[in-house]
Amino acid sequence: MSKTSIYGLTLDQLTSWLVEHGQKKFRAQQVWDWLYVKRVTEFSEMINVNKDCIQLLEEHFVLHTLKQEVKQSSADGTVKFLFNLTDGNLIETVLMRHKYGLSVCVTTQVGCNIGCTFCASGLLKKSRDLSGGEIVEQIMNVQHHLDEAGQGERVSHVVVMGIGEPFDNFENMVDFLHIINSQKGLGIGARHITVSTSGLANKIYEFADLNIQVNLAISLHAPNNELRTRIMKINRAYPLEKLMPAIDYYLEKTNRRITFEYILLKDVNDHKEEALQLASLLGDKRHLAYVNLIPYNPVYEHDQYQRSDKEAILAFYDTLKKKGINCVVRQEHGTDIDAACGQLRSKQIKKTKA
Ligand code: SAH
Ligand code: SF4
Repeated sequence: MSKTSIYGLTLDQLTSWLVEHGQKKFRAQQVWDWLYVKRVTEFSEMINVNKDCIQLLEEHFVLHTLKQEVKQSSADGTVKFLFNLTDGNLIETVLMRHKYGLSVCVTTQVGCNIGCTFCASGLLKKSRDLSGGEIVEQIMNVQHHLDEAGQGERVSHVVVMGIGEPFDNFENMVDFLHIINSQKGLGIGARHITVSTSGLANKIYEFADLNIQVNLAISLHAPNNELRTRIMKINRAYPLEKLMPAIDYYLEKTNRRITFEYILLKDVNDHKEEALQLASLLGDKRHLAYVNLIPYNPVYEHDQYQRSDKEAILAFYDTLKKKGINCVVRQEHGTDIDAACGQLRSKQIKKTKA
């Protein structure tokens, strides 16, 4: 029997599992505390847990399924981790420093099947979903890295924006959210967590129905179907006439603000015309819409896309602002260490194949 990561269990699941295996209910709370508050790295360090229970845990679970392959630090304090999974697949996780705290960007799948033409992750087909434990472990590895530095820093924010489409691994992603949000554990506030999706409309309805306070970001990148289908093939399955009603449902149900991500690709989607179309697409929800303009990070040497010029970015921003749309140009982190989605991993894979 292969052992699984204990970090994949929610507190309720851990409690049921321990009770089913003859342990007292209160043990779950103790184990949880050792995992997420005291943050031990071996079961044997859980010193107030009885020997039988430790043995039981050791027989069925592991604490480490991620092996750190590379850790790169950037001048701006960004740290990028490349992890090897037990099956040899590589994933990446990024720690970023902001004025408001420390955020971690997690990966949810090995590769991605959505196939956006501008994304390094989409170039490598999805080989599998990550388990809930593998997603939680990314946060734990970064937190252990901070614990070792001894400055008492903690991961305060999480963005689900690494490799993969989180809504294509929905259940594990939702377990992950519950685990990191648990007040008895890491206690990362729901309002400090953002999940980004390329727009799987059916899952947006499910996400709205979860009734959690986690933020939602939509990777929109184009204001009309023709252009969106050209750069994101998911738009065939979920064109704007399916996506926008799902977004309206989410807004009505949660009354929470949505971030719309828009990568600016030179001469592709950065004209005034697209800015005006975007403003009219979001116009009726402008009080709850926030546009994040993202400078493009080239993916390959002879990339079909280029980053928009500074002037074009500012002009796009101005047009949106004049139409009353809230927007911001995203600050970049760790560009000197390939911190954009999937870039370190794809480089490493190329190196291994060479
Ligand atoms: N699959 C989800 C979440 C992961 S991708 C999604 O698409 O939303 C998260 C974000 O990474 C995308 O919205 C996009 O903003 C960003 N991204 C991908 N490739 C990029 C690139 N080459 N340059 C800049 N940002 C990129
Ligand atoms: Fe997948 Fe997101 Fe990259 Fe598109 S942008 S290929 S959905 S990871």
